[in-house]
Amino acid sequence: MVRPKRLNAVVPILSEILKRFWPQIDQQRGAILLSSVCLLLETAMRLLEPWPLKFIFDRIILPGFDANTARSFALGNINAMVLLTTLALALVTISTLRGVFAYVSAVKMSIAATHVMTEIRFRLYSHLQHLSLSFHNQAKSGDLIARVTYDIERLREVTVVAILPLLTNLLTLVGMLGVMVWLNWQLALVALAILPLFALTTALMSRKIQKVARKQRKREGAMAATAAEAINAIEVVQALSLQNFLEQAFASHNQKSLRDSAASQRLRAGQERTIEILVAVATALVLWRGVQLILTGTLTPGDLLVFVTYLKVAFKPMRQLAKYTGQIAKATASGERILDLLDTVPEVRDLRGARPAPPFQGAIRFDRVSFAYDLNCETLKDLNFEVQPGEVVALVSPSGGGKSTIASLLLRFYDPQVGSISIDGRDIREYTLASLRQQITIVLQESVLFATSVRNNIAYGSLEASDDEIVAAAKLANAHDFITALPQGYDTILGERGVTLSGGQRQRIAIARAAVRQAPIAILDEPTTGLDRHNERAIDEALARLTRGRTTFLISHNLHAVERVDRILYLEGGSIVECGTHRELLQLGGRYASLYHSQTREPSTCQDRDRGENYHVVTVRSLESSRV
Ligand code: ATP
Repeated sequence: MVRPKRLNAVVPILSEILKRFWPQIDQQRGAILLSSVCLLLETAMRLLEPWPLKFIFDRIILPGFDANTARSFALGNINAMVLLTTLALALVTISTLRGVFAYVSAVKMSIAATHVMTEIRFRLYSHLQHLSLSFHNQAKSGDLIARVTYDIERLREVTVVAILPLLTNLLTLVGMLGVMVWLNWQLALVALAILPLFALTTALMSRKIQKVARKQRKREGAMAATAAEAINAIEVVQALSLQNFLEQAFASHNQKSLRDSAASQRLRAGQERTIEILVAVATALVLWRGVQLILTGTLTPGDLLVFVTYLKVAFKPMRQLAKYTGQIAKATASGERILDLLDTVPEVRDLRGARPAPPFQGAIRFDRVSFAYDLNCETLKDLNFEVQPGEVVALVSPSGGGKSTIASLLLRFYDPQVGSISIDGRDIREYTLASLRQQITIVLQESVLFATSVRNNIAYGSLEASDDEIVAAAKLANAHDFITALPQGYDTILGERGVTLSGGQRQRIAIARAAVRQAPIAILDEPTTGLDRHNERAIDEALARLTRGRTTFLISHNLHAVERVDRILYLEGGSIVECGTHRELLQLGGRYASLYHSQTREPSTCQDRDRGENYHVVTVRSLESSRV
């Protein structure tokens, strides 16, 4: 968590935020200008507010506060009456105008800030979507979501709730000090005498409050993480009866947060009361000296009234200064988090001069490809192979052999550090990312469905797909029948992550989505893992239809599923160690064969029979030399 900064450290960051978001701010120039003008007018009205009362005291009540004038006033001294009415009306007018200016200023600034933040939020979201997988693998999704929602909101809120009032209050304070010095500089000095004490108390208390608040925010973060973890894994939690155990962990954080919250409230209340006492002391001092000045004739009672009113009004914003600066400091931390994210450059992006890919035939070639997620450990080592258009190739390996990594490289989720990958003879980096991925369709083991209608879930494969194409894709995926049996058919809204459907049904919708894409290349990453036999058969059929005529990579641990593919690449430790058809590899009697036998637990029937015949079996050595 980014710590809130002290105000002096905040200023350069604030100006950086302003500079970076200037284009968005500039678009709201009109609203911000109007808000600023109203802010100045509001300040002027605030300064004027006690003046009608001063005139009432000095010109009407006190100059002739003896029985005669009082009587003549009571009998209807027109001048005094007119003056009194005018001043009373002025009081109402000034207060009303102050309210109107404050309203316009706040509303305009609020709308401008909302517009700016909406723009920034969109930019941030769009940027986030384009960041490479290497970034997303390391980032915490909760943290990224917090930046797009909470941090942006905090920045917006602080503009309206803290910066604007702080500006108004500072302007008012400066104006009031000016007027006080102009009225009587000696009394102004007396009023200011309390300021150092006030600043010291505020600084000390604010530091304590910030410390507790920081602890509290950390605690809240831990609570959110505990809750999120339990809710995301609710099936496991309930199955293992971990509820009580996790509740205890949550309760402990909750209790500590309660204690911190009470401490923070105590400190705040203490700070308020201390400041009230200081204001009382300042008021008493001003009254004490002010009355003396009145008695010597250097000050009018109305002047003293203005002083005392200003004192009360001026100290109120000062009281809130600590609160505002705290809020601004926190918002600056949010601003920094947003800038950090915007400054992250996607590792994989369109290269300069990249052009849209033409329709692919589907010939794929990995040429001396080496790749490492972490530079200390190579995941793929000097990989060489070619796949013909329309060929179905299975990638088989023990767990962690690098199968999914090959698929990720083809989709350009990552770029290899060494070597190149080409489609139809051209390096895939020459094409724009969007046009490359447009021509590759995928089905994953964990089919991700979105919380929208079945129709939309399928259409996400190709946003231009017509209704007929969607239905055709669903039929290809053996999904049409169960979709039409759903309450609203294709318009049925699926729950979060499609939880209202069975695993097999979800997978069939994912296959329909892959089919509607009409892409020449398909990647099927463990598409039938975890399904029962009935579903597996239905999905196998669907996949056979899906892969027809497409260059296909099938990644599977289930070796029955790969028996009929055109070719199997068997990988170990990031290298291809065997390559051939199922029969050829069984014939070879190598690593694939022993994996197959360990899965089927049946002795090979063709191994001995076929050994020695002229099968196209390639071991790693010949692979390297011939670049299969
Ligand atoms: P499985 O059959 O278990 O799905 P796989 O053959 O598909 O495995 P990969 O997922 O490609 O293998 O992983 C190959 C190696 O790369 C593994 O050692 C894995 O730990 C590592 N790896 C995979 N993804 C990442 C990542 N995002 N960051 C760092 N290392 C990774």
